[in-house]
Amino acid sequence: MIDPESLVDRVQEGELRIHELEAEADFDTAAEARRLLVERETGADLETIGDYAFPAERAEPNIENMIGAAQVPMGVVGPVSVSGGAADGDHYLPLATTEGALLASVNRGLSVIGSAGGADARVTKNGMTRAPVFRVNGVAEAAEAVEWVEDNLEALREAAESTTSHGELLGIEPYVVGDSVYLRFAYDTKDAMGMNMATIATEAACEVVERETPASLVALSGNLCSDKKPAAINAVEGRGRSVTADVVIPGELVEDRLHTTAEAIVEANTRKNLVGSAKAGSLGFNAHAANVVGAAFLATGQDEAQVVEGANAITTMDTRNAEDGATDLYASVSLASLEVGTVGGGTKLPTQSEALEILGLRGGGDPAGSNADALAEIIAVAALAGELSLLAALASNHLASAHEDLGR
Ligand code: NAP
Repeated sequence: MIDPESLVDRVQEGELRIHELEAEADFDTAAEARRLLVERETGADLETIGDYAFPAERAEPNIENMIGAAQVPMGVVGPVSVSGGAADGDHYLPLATTEGALLASVNRGLSVIGSAGGADARVTKNGMTRAPVFRVNGVAEAAEAVEWVEDNLEALREAAESTTSHGELLGIEPYVVGDSVYLRFAYDTKDAMGMNMATIATEAACEVVERETPASLVALSGNLCSDKKPAAINAVEGRGRSVTADVVIPGELVEDRLHTTAEAIVEANTRKNLVGSAKAGSLGFNAHAANVVGAAFLATGQDEAQVVEGANAITTMDTRNAEDGATDLYASVSLASLEVGTVGGGTKLPTQSEALEILGLRGGGDPAGSNADALAEIIAVAALAGELSLLAALASNHLASAHEDLGR
């Protein structure tokens, strides 16, 4: 067994580099040596960071220069009552966050949704995208390249799909800007979030485009994809899963459990989520979908940077006239670009795969893609619950102050 202190000495003497420790010792000893080094050089105490509960080797493909684990508190909300295209029944959803009151708030919304008979949810579009950018001489060559791509989709599909047993090329959308040609490839990546899969497949297709057309590849990602940046293209065209959840809540439930009225929630939604967001130039028209998406991503091993597009959601609220003369509340949330997977990436890590196990969604689904669809639907219902709860809180506070103002 190698003494971690001796490894630290060697790093400090310049004999060894900080990222080379795994070549000298097992993964846990390498992480310990790195912690000791950081402790020596900064005076910080890393006891808790080093107190992680899985073999460091299991995290090897997901991290470099490991020193330990960031242990974010995890709780569950539920039951999430959903009738979906892939998810059905009641589920506990694990959420990892440091924001107090978030789970309580989502749970309040879920409880009301459950009492209303559950929410419907559907994945309405699925396609992980990669958009390489090519250089051409000018618009004539651009048109030539685009025409060739449109005429030879099958050859490109064959090249792309030769790199994966699960991924399927759905289509290629070309965009021309002067002497730049962007080809936005979209794939069904089944239960994988699919960013690696789509990138590898697109690289193979790009070799064919370069061979057969005047276009030269400049970058495998030309930002029209668009990964981890707020972008209207994802809001309009979707990326990953486009998923919608909705529910009709009887007026009586709104009053008894949310302490407000359907009309007050609708007004809060219109003035805040729609008009306020429009005035702010926001890409998302929602109250706090990012809270649920972010916490679910952390808990289940999704790529947390993709909360940027995952939280791109529109929340709608409307009144519905019930047969008994009551005014019910129709509520929906539509997440345009929720990039989730149940295989690959961080989903394999021990903590995160246990979290997926809570949902019964660890690993590949049968049929392939159904587990990732179900995860998207469950997250959408939880996001809907978060929207309902927050809007109700805002609406009821407004009502409370209005009552005070009116002296009754
Ligand atoms: P991945 O782990 O690279 O690929 C998924 C793997 O799972 C594939 O090898 C696939 O095999 C296999 N697989 C087994 N069962 C499957 C099923 N039922 N459905 C789908 N695939 C199945 O994961 P990824 O989702 O493509 O990429 C996620 C990772 O990409 C994350 O770590 C993320 O941080 C990272 N990322 C990469 C980029 C990039 O540009 N490369 C950008 C952003 C994020 P086959 O392919 O043989 O079918």
